[in-house]
Amino acid sequence: MISNSPKRRRVAIVGGGVAGSLAAIALAKLPQIESIAVFDRVGAFGRGLAYSAKSPWHRINVPAYKMGGVGAEDTEGFADWLAATGQSDWRDYSDSFVPRWVYGDYIAAQLSKIAASGRAIMHTDVIKHIERTQSDYQLTSGQCWTFDIVFLCLGNPSPSPFPGIESTPRSITDVWATGALDPIRSHDRVLVIGTGATAVDVVIDLHRRGLQQPITMISRRGLLPLIDAPAQTDPAPLEHWSEPTARGIFATLLEDTRHKMAAGIPWQTSVDTFRLQIARLWTDASRTERERFSRHLRAIWLVHRHRLAPDVAQSLDKLQSERSLDVLAGRIVSAKARPAGYNVTIHRRGGTAMQMTADWILNCTGPEERYDRIENPLVQSMLASGIARRGNNGLGLDVDDTCRIVDRSGTVQTGLYAIGHATRGAFWEVTAATNIRQQILNVVDMLKTTSS
Ligand SMILES: Cc1cc2nc3c(=O)[nH]c(=O)nc-3n(C[C@H](O)[C@H](O)[C@H](O)COP(=O)(O)OP(=O)(O)OC[C@H]3O[C@@H](n4cnc5c(N)ncnc54)[C@H](O)[C@@H]3O)c2cc1C
Repeated sequence: MISNSPKRRRVAIVGGGVAGSLAAIALAKLPQIESIAVFDRVGAFGRGLAYSAKSPWHRINVPAYKMGGVGAEDTEGFADWLAATGQSDWRDYSDSFVPRWVYGDYIAAQLSKIAASGRAIMHTDVIKHIERTQSDYQLTSGQCWTFDIVFLCLGNPSPSPFPGIESTPRSITDVWATGALDPIRSHDRVLVIGTGATAVDVVIDLHRRGLQQPITMISRRGLLPLIDAPAQTDPAPLEHWSEPTARGIFATLLEDTRHKMAAGIPWQTSVDTFRLQIARLWTDASRTERERFSRHLRAIWLVHRHRLAPDVAQSLDKLQSERSLDVLAGRIVSAKARPAGYNVTIHRRGGTAMQMTADWILNCTGPEERYDRIENPLVQSMLASGIARRGNNGLGLDVDDTCRIVDRSGTVQTGLYAIGHATRGAFWEVTAATNIRQQILNVVDMLKTTSS
């Protein structure tokens, strides 16, 4: 007798961080999935880069209740888990921005349930190549594997070396690499490039490690992330703008936010509700408008979007008032190597030049977004073979609106998905755990009704 039941699918997930783990957990519920193999090059299952952090001052950048759960049904999953495991005794709002490893514990615990049930198998291995055959995908590490569906959950690539800085061991490009900050001594002068969340983490880290010298941070505009506030309900989320350009949309958002602030609603609430529209606005925008946003508005948006726990913001204020932290707006013109450090020339915003010496330069400018420049062997091999191409405005990898990879000829690759940072060019707002989870749930919903 010939069976009419659809073929059960073998799934590979490349990347075992939060994206890969959430994908495995969601896929494990589908009866049409035969097996799930999760590959991670460093074995960081459930944690990935962000939640492998070990210091208590490396905190999640939103209060715990905003991190959500693992699926559509458990919207307060993380907060509930914290309560169930006796970890939610928060004295004030700042305490709810728990250490990142705690969120890693939560995701790793959920993942280990499906691993223990045999539904998913973890492999500490680097996938270097992927090839499409007529009926499936072949993945190559040291060995060859065959799957029907592949999820690429590759995470945030390291930043590229900063232009104008001579390469020496005193310039650190990947501050998250294990032990990267260890050689810095307490009397060293440190220049941090970038003023975003990673830069703030590093400054707090260096301070806690006992750095005695003032730290200098620099970015084009010298803007630090702003402070978070408890969420409120937005009574009238913004949905229409007079002019659908980057500037027009921002002008409308600003006006709307001012009105709401006058009515006692914090600006953070307006920003958070507006954020839900970003993916659609980015997708609909022209290439030119996307470029305008990236050039003129991105830095201002990011400091409002990625915020700091109130006590972290206070620590930064204190460091600045004690002159232990100097935040500059400007650009590095050159950084010439000298014995054990650099002579740096800076052009300050507004016109003046300044010189400084630094024993270390730390690149905290954020992950590289142009995937033709990243070192991941899998991505390089995919771009070279043409199974993938660069995304909109050169960012990430090209995907369609359901996260399926688009190849060099413009053909959608059925069964081959990218999740998270790699989809930046298509959706822009793709880094937070909540955005990643939504992407996965959309794909998994689709898989319930289709074969791949
Ligand atoms: C320092 C930091 C702090 C953050 N804090 C927050 C926060 O508080 N809240 C929030 O919502 N978001 C935060 N984020 C955003 C973060 O990007 C997401 O929350 C999430 O961690 C991304 O998960 P991921 O699985 O996509 O990437 P990752 O966690 O980077 O995992 C990707 C994994 O893929 C593996 N991998 C890559 N290529 C291969 C390959 N070829 N073969 C095998 N394995 C491979 C890597 O080794 C890695 O373990 C933070 C990000 C960073 C960097």
